[in-house]
Amino acid sequence: MPQLNDYEPIVGAQVLEELRYLAQALKGQRILHINSTAVGGGVAEILNRMLPLLTELGVESRWDVVKGGEEFYSVTKKIHNALHGHAQMFTPRDYEAFEEVQEANLKNMALDEDIIFIHDPQPIGLVKRKRDCGNRWLWRCHVDVSNPQREIWNFLEKYLQFYDKAVFSSPSFSQRLPIPQVLICPSIDPLSEKNRELMPDEISAVIQRLGIPLDKPLVTQVSRFDRLKDPVGVIKAFRQIQKYVDARLLLVGGSATDDPEGAQVYLEVKEAAGDDPDILVLLLPPTAHLEINAIQRASTVILQKSLKEGFGLTITEGLWKGKPVIAGAVGGIPLQITHKYSGILVHSIEGTAYWLKQLLQEPAFARKLGENGREHVRQNFLLTRHIRDYLLLFLSLDPNLKLH
Ligand code: UDP
Repeated sequence: MPQLNDYEPIVGAQVLEELRYLAQALKGQRILHINSTAVGGGVAEILNRMLPLLTELGVESRWDVVKGGEEFYSVTKKIHNALHGHAQMFTPRDYEAFEEVQEANLKNMALDEDIIFIHDPQPIGLVKRKRDCGNRWLWRCHVDVSNPQREIWNFLEKYLQFYDKAVFSSPSFSQRLPIPQVLICPSIDPLSEKNRELMPDEISAVIQRLGIPLDKPLVTQVSRFDRLKDPVGVIKAFRQIQKYVDARLLLVGGSATDDPEGAQVYLEVKEAAGDDPDILVLLLPPTAHLEINAIQRASTVILQKSLKEGFGLTITEGLWKGKPVIAGAVGGIPLQITHKYSGILVHSIEGTAYWLKQLLQEPAFARKLGENGREHVRQNFLLTRHIRDYLLLFLSLDPNLKLH
């Protein structure tokens, strides 16, 4: 695992000094993060990288995962889709199953750390314990809640009112809430296996091992197989440009343990790809960080045609690698991409096809987008900035914590 000092060549000494200064005031504080999956998806990705650095800074940080069964995950997937604005039918049993899992987890968790940091809706009900422990609770929403189904938002608000603060990734997600809310963008770790620099021969070794031919420009979307990532829309856009440019499309993905729909969506994607040798669909385990790094670096253009998106770490990853990224103009994505400056924002299959063709035909313009994107990520979306924001947030929770 990298140490804080290893980040100095990328972010500068001052940034690290500031982190050490802020962390001083939090020495001895214990933080517990809770989400619903240890692998797969952006939340697990961030926590894995952030916690060792917080611990190095003297802010003792632990991570736990709520456990539920099949019924719970199908309810939480419905909640996820409803928060994204897709109307869902909830039965009384759905709510009951959700609450049963909260109760079952409460039995096995002490939850007496100074700060409990709950990620997303799945463990939101654990806040019941706050009454007994008198500690501080944060709810971190990673989901695009610009237009949530009201019924489900009201259900979550029942729990939310007991939290000290809520954290969102984009100003467009803010809701009328009885508690203060703050805006903190996610981040990537430039030194992780997923993002570290790779030598050209390292890239080709991985790509060869995966059997991806590089005789044509590679256009890639890395995503869990989730309809909101619109993998079938990506295939449709690619088909529209095939008669003009010779390229190969690669859809790479896996699934997260808390996502029951992945297998079905994978089948839909395989069917849409058919037997076209220029459309590759690759399943990778969620631990395949080096593979994804090499694939992103071997790509000519990166796509992320999401229909809803909390933030979209795959975009941050692509931009950090200096790649031109074409992405849906939804959720947190416009915070990362300024259209025609640090990438391309699209609203449709046709728009995606149009810009994909442009970027493949105008490599100098594509390169410039990638360069600007990388600089934007360096300034705003690296792990050190994220840690700073969290330290400030922790400090803001307790007036007894003082900076010296
Ligand atoms: N990812 C991965 N393997 C996959 C699909 C995604 O490692 O098969 C990673 C991807 O590189 C990124 C994260 O999972 O770091 C996805 O985060 P994002 O915010 O893009 O989407 P989410 O999955 O959280 O909706």
